[in-house]
Parts: sequence; C-alpha cells; structure tokens
Amino acid sequence: MFKKILIANRGEIALRIIQACRELGIATVAVHSTADNESLHVTYADEDICIGPPPPTESYLNISSVIAAAEITGAEAIHPGYGFLAENAHFAEVLAECNLSWIGPRPETIRQMGDKANARRVALEAGVPVLPGSSKPLASTTEARQLADEIGYPVILKASAGGGGRGMRIVTNPDDIESQFATASEEASRAFGDGSMYLEKYLVVPRHVEFQIFGDSHGNVVHLGERECSIQRRHQKLIEESPSVALDQDLRDRMGEAAVRLAKAVKYENAGTIEFLLDQDGSFYFMEMNTRIQVEHPVTEMVLGIDLVKEQLRVAAGAAVSFRSGLKPRGHVIECRINAEDPETFRPSPGRVTTLHLPGGPGVRIDTHTYQEYIIPPFYDSMVGKLIVQGKDRLEAIERTRRALDFFVVEGIRTSIPLHKKILQDEKFRSGDLSTRFMEEFFERNAKSKVDT
Ligand code: ADP
Repeated sequence: MFKKILIANRGEIALRIIQACRELGIATVAVHSTADNESLHVTYADEDICIGPPPPTESYLNISSVIAAAEITGAEAIHPGYGFLAENAHFAEVLAECNLSWIGPRPETIRQMGDKANARRVALEAGVPVLPGSSKPLASTTEARQLADEIGYPVILKASAGGGGRGMRIVTNPDDIESQFATASEEASRAFGDGSMYLEKYLVVPRHVEFQIFGDSHGNVVHLGERECSIQRRHQKLIEESPSVALDQDLRDRMGEAAVRLAKAVKYENAGTIEFLLDQDGSFYFMEMNTRIQVEHPVTEMVLGIDLVKEQLRVAAGAAVSFRSGLKPRGHVIECRINAEDPETFRPSPGRVTTLHLPGGPGVRIDTHTYQEYIIPPFYDSMVGKLIVQGKDRLEAIERTRRALDFFVVEGIRTSIPLHKKILQDEKFRSGDLSTRFMEEFFERNAKSKVDT
C-alpha cells in the first residue's frame, strides 16, 4: 500500500479522499490555490503546498506545479478526485514518466473513453446498445444534415470532448441543423479546445441510469448496481438515488452485464461509471463513460455499505477488487447536491457562510468542506456539499431527506435547499415517475400553480 499520496483537488472530494487515507494509514498531501488557504482539505491533510493563484489553469490544472508538489513531498501516487485533471490522459501519462502512480484507470482507457464519439464506437464493438448516430466525429455541416435526416428528428449534437452537461444542442427542426452545428462546434472549441461534434437520436423522455463499475489490474471487473440521475437541470444532476424504481432484477442484470462487458473491452481498472439512457419501453443505450470517481459515489457506498475511495487506493496499489457484482442494496438512498446558488435564478451565490447547522440523525451522511465563517470562493464549482440519506425503502428515504433538509441551515449565501424541499414534496417525484424532463415539467407545474393561487 502507498505510504503517502497527493490529492490534486479541492472541496468536498479532497476531504473525502483524506478520510479514506486516514482509515488506511496513508499520509496525505493537499495542494491548493491562494483562494483556498483556509480550506478544510488544507487543514486536515498531513502536508499542504500552495500551487498558485485562484484561476484553475494556474493552480489545480497546472500539471507541472502539481507534479513538483508530489516530488517535493515524496508522495508516491496522485488521486485526482473528479473534475480538474481527473480525465486528463496526458497528465496520467506524465505521472508514469515521473515514477508516480495514478489512482485511476490507465491513460489509454481515459483517452479511448474520454472522446465521446470514440466511446460510442467502442460500445458498439462490444455489443452494447447505442442510439442511432455517428460513429466518428462529423466532418462537415453536410454530413450532420445527411445523418440527421437519415435517423430522424429530434437529434442531439454533442461535443466529442464535452462534459458537465455542456456542449450539447437538441435539434427538432431540420431547418436548424446546419446553423446549430456551426454554433455548437464553435462553442465547443472555445470551451474544450476541440470543436469536433457527433450526433445521435434524441430521446424525449428517457431516464438517466448509470452503473458503478470497478476493475483491477488482474482483469476482474464487477458492477455495483445503478444510480438513477434523472433529476437534472440543464443536463446537470441535482438528485441521485439508488435503486432505480424503473429497474426490475432482470433489467438490472442485463444493464449491469452490458456495463461489465464494455469495461472489460477496454480492460478497465479502478472506479468508473457507465451512463445509460433508459427509454420508456425498457430499451437502454450507452451514453458515455466517466473514467473516475463520480460526485454521486456516496449513493452506492451507502446503499451497499462499501467504501469506493478506499477500494480505489487498494486497487491502484495492485490489489484485486474485493467486491463482487450484484451486491444487494440495503433499503434506498437519495442524494441532494446542495449548491451555493440563487434558487430562483440559479446564479452562483458565493460568499461568507455566516451560520451553518448540519443535520444528523439516523441514515444521514453529509459530505462537505463548508464550515461556519467559511468564504465560498467564486472561482470554482458552486457545490457546498452533498446530503446523502438512507431509508428502509424509498418513502422513508424521501421523508428522512425532507426532515434533514428542514434541519439544514445555511445562512449568508443562497442555496438550492429550498428547491430540493419542493422537489421532495412533488407528487410526481414521490411516485417515482421520473425522466430527464422532470425538472422542466416541475418548473412549469410550479409556475402554473403560482398563477392559479
Ligand atoms: P455530459 O458528459 O456533459 O454530462 P452526457 O452525454 O452524459 O453529457 O449527457 C448529459 C445529459 O444530457 C443526460 O443525462 C441526458 O439528460 C441528456 N442527454 C444526452 N444525450 C441524450 C440523448 N441522446 N437523448 C436524450 N437526452 C440526452
């Protein structure tokens, strides 16, 4: 096992990795920007090094500073968390040259699955269903038009290098395909430094159901069940849960088996997620793979009673994966992502947290780096923490989440807590009638009821 690792991240995920390291007796090195001098990951790590000014490109994304920090402190491995350098194959490669271990999949796998158009091809070759669409990036506007005409509207244009819900355009009208392709591609090159686009059939009311998988360097791959992440705003997840009410055991087995087959096809090592869209008729389609730990990993941890981050460390150090596929869920788990944002406009709301009271009690887990008097810097992700709640069944999980949200007090900034409370009271949510359109319809329903009253 490693004796000391460096965490190339910040916020709640950096803390989560520190927790896992503490339990395994691994010393930790935190890196941080000058905006994060007062951050908890800096406080709790055994050592810390400032790697630059606030902008991510000058600190958390600065590969040479991160590597220098590892070399100075004698860390043996780097855990990238999620975001920042987590899916940067070049970074993972450079680490190998510097004799540093990478806590994640092999760089070839990151490259193979990181390009979303290429990942579709890999899935097709592995016999995993994908939606009709392009098997390589679109060469021209004409090609986009031809393909869209062939598969039928609506279609979705996606950036091959996209992520975080950005770089996607839904096209319902054939007259718009050319102009949408041009603007989307331009946007993608500005956002990701790569304008290549692909397209696929757009499903109007699917569910987002993803499978947690885990592989090791001995060729084992297991799946750890699903998380339903259909509650999204602007293609970004707000609430995740497990198990999904849309899956019976047969469908769960088939989706899990497809996820394992795909992961085996790329000789996947460490934690990863295979995202599927599940259509109303029960057909499922591969959407993309995330080659890292996910924000919502605690849902799986809590519902199965396992520790994915400790397993990441063990497996990266050469151990075989200790889980088996098909572990039985223990009740039901729901996660709410609490963001520092205005609940009406969704604009980020950084600043000083003047009061903070975290709920506790049975079945409640909170992953957060926020504390009273903490100043949320404006430079990074607006998530202030995650509330993860377990109940014996979905209804108990919902009621527990509601009472935990009632006791969750954050003052000084605006948060998404009021929005979560409303969603958990919503009849459609409570009945489990979910789809990725849920939020759109929820806002329409609520705007209407405001007018009605
Ligand atoms: P990102 O990598 O940016 O998260 P994804 O490819 O995972 O992008 O898609 C994010 C979300 O966009 C999905 O969860 C889903 O809601 C929506 N989406 C993506 N592709 C499709 C599609 N073909 N049909 C319907 N919705 C889609």
